[in-house]
Amino acid sequence: MRDQLKRLEELQQFDAQIQELDNALKAIPAKLQASQNDLARVEALLESERTQLTETQRYYSEQKTQLQTEEATVSGAKHKLSLAKNSKEYVAAQREIEQTRESAQTREAEVAKLVEAIQAKEKLLADRAEELKGLRSSIEKDGEIAHTKMAEVQKKIDALQVTRDKVAAGIRPDYLKRYGAIRMRRGLAVATVRNGTCLGCNMNVPPQLYNTLQRGNTLETCPYCHRIIYWEEIMKDQSSTPAAE
Ligand SMILES: [Zn+2]
Repeated sequence: MRDQLKRLEELQQFDAQIQELDNALKAIPAKLQASQNDLARVEALLESERTQLTETQRYYSEQKTQLQTEEATVSGAKHKLSLAKNSKEYVAAQREIEQTRESAQTREAEVAKLVEAIQAKEKLLADRAEELKGLRSSIEKDGEIAHTKMAEVQKKIDALQVTRDKVAAGIRPDYLKRYGAIRMRRGLAVATVRNGTCLGCNMNVPPQLYNTLQRGNTLETCPYCHRIIYWEEIMKDQSSTPAAE
């Protein structure tokens, strides 16, 4: 019995270690995913800024074309002015020149502003693209480190699992089944009883059960937390002898 309890206790330690490593293993991709999400956000932002730039460029070429049309109109009107046969034609041509010139001047200022805006945006986009490149390569590096780390942790888990299974092989199948069922419900399945108290739930076990535990001939469970329990001293008094094997 004592040997079986020792093995169960040992099994529990392996399972706890494996669980811990497994949690660490699962946390790694989540962290990587967060970086990937950051990257995707920055990429989307850059893309929307590129779209803005394209729109500004399109507007710029529209304005530029219109300006050229206005300039052509002015030179046409100037030609009309030189050919004017009477004052009516002269005044009409004069007015056309003035109006078109005014509009062209406003447009010219607008076009200059657009050129500035486009240059600023191009500079910003170049900087952002550079930042993105840095971010991408740092994430790539993190990914490589994470994969190495994951492989290491997995290797540890596999090794522990092999030893764990060896320990499990030395436990009576019905005990193992009970252990498994309790573990699923309550995490730790085996608890020590010290001075009559179950250390799994801190309740005092009934005196009769405590006596049974002290005899150490049967596999008992705590009536409160339902963990497999054993009397602490049972393991202690023979602790000089080798454990499970
Ligand atoms: Zn208990």
